[in-house]
Amino acid sequence: GVGPIGHTVIPIVNKLQDIFAQLGNSTTIDLPQVAVVGSQSSGKSSVLEALVGRDFLPRGTDICTRRPLVLQLIHLPRRSEDGGVEWGEFRHLEGQRFFDFSEIRREIQIETDREAGKNKGVSYKQICLKIFSPNVLNITLVDLPGITKVPVGDQPRDIEASIRTMILSYIKHKTCIILAVSPANADLANSDALQMARIADPDGSRTIGVITKLDIMDRGTDARNFLLGKVIPLKLGYVGVVNRSQEDIDNNRSIIDALASEERFFRNQPAYQDLSHCCGVPQLAKKLNQILVQHIMNVLPGLKSCINAQLVAVAKEYAAYGEVVESKDGKGVLLLNILAKYSEAFSSIVEGKNELS
Ligand code: GDP
Ligand code: MG
Repeated sequence: GVGPIGHTVIPIVNKLQDIFAQLGNSTTIDLPQVAVVGSQSSGKSSVLEALVGRDFLPRGTDICTRRPLVLQLIHLPRRSEDGGVEWGEFRHLEGQRFFDFSEIRREIQIETDREAGKNKGVSYKQICLKIFSPNVLNITLVDLPGITKVPVGDQPRDIEASIRTMILSYIKHKTCIILAVSPANADLANSDALQMARIADPDGSRTIGVITKLDIMDRGTDARNFLLGKVIPLKLGYVGVVNRSQEDIDNNRSIIDALASEERFFRNQPAYQDLSHCCGVPQLAKKLNQILVQHIMNVLPGLKSCINAQLVAVAKEYAAYGEVVESKDGKGVLLLNILAKYSEAFSSIVEGKNELS
């Protein structure tokens, strides 16, 4: 099947996080947040769902995402007796577990209406949702309302400016990976997504371009030049995807089905035959994985010195009480050894990039 986000790195990162958990919460690996930006109905929510591999977000041709949704994926250790149950839990309904993912979508809609009204209003108050699953990496994804220009319904006259400000407040953080989503059936040079991404990340070091709707481009055109970065170059490049159409959504087409049909689409289109490295949701997941692995590689040395410093501090404390320190038997030394081992494992993953799926 299709590996959801973080498939290959999951085992290693979770091991590391387990180890750090034993140390207390002073040392953790903070994985970067991933946020989607783009104009309304460009396919942002669809892309996030495909990455998570579950159906749970409101999607549609109208304004659907009207509050920021902070989606925290939380890895559960797999236990044989529960067969890998997954569930969601909202911050505003603490303790209530949602095992049915369509109930999660309904609750997002109810909670959106409660805060932003039923008439297309937008609110900047987050909805926080945690998804617990054995199949995910501990990472936070943010689904944001899209950029819209003409106020409709209860929207204020300055709707465009205020949505832009809200989006920036998420993507300005240097650790945020930006998925800049632009539909293939519009001119890339007019892309709100790329324009916003450039403001937050001028050198493009944390922006991935995502081109959606490759299936509904004008006949006789294709997105080759977009994908190859010939229209607007991006350091981390572009990935083209085909999500479910509105008809697919109305017919409750499954995500597995949609991914299979995406695969078929790229296989049968001559224009994309030689671009398989930048086509399809699995390639987007792979790109994200590589960025996550690189991020972990970058933070490991800092984590090591942090643990070292803690060791020294503890040793001093003990010394002050006049106790003998058997540092060789200490947990910290063990941790450093384990970390060294994992650093090697990461190096080999990064060098042998093909191992990532
Ligand atoms: P958002 O507003 O950016 O979150 O966009 P949504 O994910 O809600 O999608 C908006 C509409 O576009 C929905 O009707 C989707 O079915 C449709 N859509 C999204 N991606 C694609 C795609 O790749 N191909 C087609 N045909 N429709 C898409
Ligand atoms: Mg949306």
